[in-house]
Amino acid sequence: MRLRTFESFWLLKNGLLYSYPSLQKNIETEILVIGGGITGALTSHTLMEKGYRVLLIDKRDIAQGSSSATTSMLQYEIDVPLHQLAEMIGEDAAAACYKAGIKAIKKLSGIITNLKIDCGFENKKSLYVAHSKDSATDLEKEFLIRDKYELGVKWLTAEVVKKQYGLECYGAILSDTAASVDAYKLAHELIQLNVKRGMLVFDQTEVEKFNLTGDQTFVVTKTGCTIKCKKVIFCSGFETIKLLKEKIAKLFYTYACVSEQDIKLSATLHNTLVWDTADPYLYMRTTDDGRLLVGGEDSSVNFSIFQQTIKEHKSDNLQKRLKEILPDVTFNEDFSWAGTFGSTKDGLPYIGQSPEYENALFVLGFGGNGITFSIQAMDIIPDLLEGKFNELSQYYRFGR
Ligand SMILES: Cc1cc2nc3c(=O)[nH]c(=O)nc-3n(C[C@H](O)[C@H](O)[C@H](O)COP(=O)(O)OP(=O)(O)OC[C@H]3O[C@@H](n4cnc5c(N)ncnc54)[C@H](O)[C@@H]3O)c2cc1C
Repeated sequence: MRLRTFESFWLLKNGLLYSYPSLQKNIETEILVIGGGITGALTSHTLMEKGYRVLLIDKRDIAQGSSSATTSMLQYEIDVPLHQLAEMIGEDAAAACYKAGIKAIKKLSGIITNLKIDCGFENKKSLYVAHSKDSATDLEKEFLIRDKYELGVKWLTAEVVKKQYGLECYGAILSDTAASVDAYKLAHELIQLNVKRGMLVFDQTEVEKFNLTGDQTFVVTKTGCTIKCKKVIFCSGFETIKLLKEKIAKLFYTYACVSEQDIKLSATLHNTLVWDTADPYLYMRTTDDGRLLVGGEDSSVNFSIFQQTIKEHKSDNLQKRLKEILPDVTFNEDFSWAGTFGSTKDGLPYIGQSPEYENALFVLGFGGNGITFSIQAMDIIPDLLEGKFNELSQYYRFGR
């Protein structure tokens, strides 16, 4: 599966930061983490902190999958609005999922500050704007339920949004907690830090076969090496759906483009993630090197061959839509790219054990805030390994 077009912005910006050997012999470990993207980096970090013996492998180089294509907006807000999620899973459960997003962003902020990781992390606010008159009615309903659960929200009228952000819309929810990050760099730095603490990492090492039931848990790589372990944690991204009988997500393509540096924007826009209520939604955020990153235009076309060719056309569309809502901003494109994306029926991730595999856990943070879900897995996975109750794991379970 091609997870992204060739010129993902973060890979071009940073280059290949760290490279590791491929596995060339049989080996044993306590926990095997499959996947060295942002999810594998966060999960292996938390397991190392808890004192587990961890080995991480990736079939590509580190963070060359979706994590080099992501636009890395960190939002507590799930693709399914709270009032709709409440109808699907109950109001208390839905509010717990939304609150978990706020906690996750704060947790990541703390980790990055404590470990002094240079990865463009910035705490921001988030503005969810109504793109039409009709959607404003629904958005006000959404504001009321978020306010009831004290999610740190304010309602802004269209006039206030125009005055403060220069943005055309029909009203908006302003949320206190959000952030942006360079997830590619964060994944690399976190993995490198744990290598220094004794974690083993092998890239260009693909799992081909495995036995994940009974006493003998092992995987066999494409080159014929065996890795024996107690548990396997799959942090293997969108490609993982091929391993599961349960249809957990629909895959499609999503597109993004980034402006040249030093784009002229209001200070408020620099500090705020913006997304709208259209379907598919348009979203934007600034980068720490002074660019505006715009994304959206999702398409169901799922053939790699088209991904490369239609991205220019999609980037033009993104810029046209940007001009409609931000008429005073001049956006000169520097790069555009596309990536595979997955969405689940309720916007929630799948984190935990699949009934098909006894000795494995999965961290599949599908959806618009996949990274925020991966941060939540940093608490869920250790709890599940220790057999402890974890409230979120009920909502994120397989077979729901
Ligand atoms: C354009 C775009 C914009 C996005 N914007 C946002 C956003 O704003 N906010 C947000 O939170 N999320 C966003 N996402 C989603 C986000 O990118 C993903 O949630 C996140 O990158 C997933 O990270 P991951 O580590 O799980 O997957 P990946 O980064 O894909 O890592 C999985 C790794 O597993 C490896 N692997 C797979 N199979 C095997 C195997 N058999 N053996 C060994 N290794 C294997 C792969 O090589 C890969 O490196 C966006 C995605 C795209 C494409």
